[in-house]
Amino acid sequence: MKMPVLFIGHGSPMNAIEENEFTETWKVLGKNLPRAKAILTISAHWYSEGTRTSDSNNPRMIYDMYGFPKELYELKYLAKGSPELSSQLERVLGERLIIDNGWGIDHGTWSVLSHMYPEADIPVVQLSINHQAPAKEHYEIGKALRFLREEGVLILGSGNIVHNLSLINWQMEGGYPFAHDFDEYIKSNILDRNHDAVIYHERTGESAEKAFYTPDHYFPLLYALGASDLSDEIEVFNEKCLMGSMSMTGYRFG
Ligand code: ZN
Repeated sequence: MKMPVLFIGHGSPMNAIEENEFTETWKVLGKNLPRAKAILTISAHWYSEGTRTSDSNNPRMIYDMYGFPKELYELKYLAKGSPELSSQLERVLGERLIIDNGWGIDHGTWSVLSHMYPEADIPVVQLSINHQAPAKEHYEIGKALRFLREEGVLILGSGNIVHNLSLINWQMEGGYPFAHDFDEYIKSNILDRNHDAVIYHERTGESAEKAFYTPDHYFPLLYALGASDLSDEIEVFNEKCLMGSMSMTGYRFG
């Protein structure tokens, strides 16, 4: 049994406690996916020096957002860790991997999983994104982790394909033209399995320049793409831009 791979556009941290069209899709995914033995998440919010993971049995919850209602800071998602999965990561990534129990699971992970798996009964391990590594390296790590799918691990990249907070317009319902353009460009290349165009996204010019100024929310997609393979069916979900410069689009491979 090979597990699917997901990329999820997590959007606002408020999605953790709201019920909306996006969280509804996450709930349905959680119900319909084959039962995972463990979940490996790559969250935009652990953007670190080097590639890091935790080997703790009880990873800490990180409330890495500011100025939100109290309710959000009271949410608990107390999934176990999986030292077994962490040591598999160590075997594959070798010296590149730093064990760091100072982080844990952040809102890129728990805002989504609290809808997908509200019981928090599947162990979760988070892998960080090395901010010094080029796009191709993130894709290659995803590839190296692909075998975990055969071992019942759900690989989940959590970010946003368009994520530009400096251009955000909280009142705007849809997205600016560049947001739709970039989201559409990425979708057509993913569906055509033209991965180089996604890795080297900057070649798309103006839309790509505005889609994000830092790639932290984009890189989780490259892990999911790397872990996908040619025989996977591809499903696009939550395809929507909002607040001008954010896309919620997600992908399921396999
Ligand atoms: Zn985020």
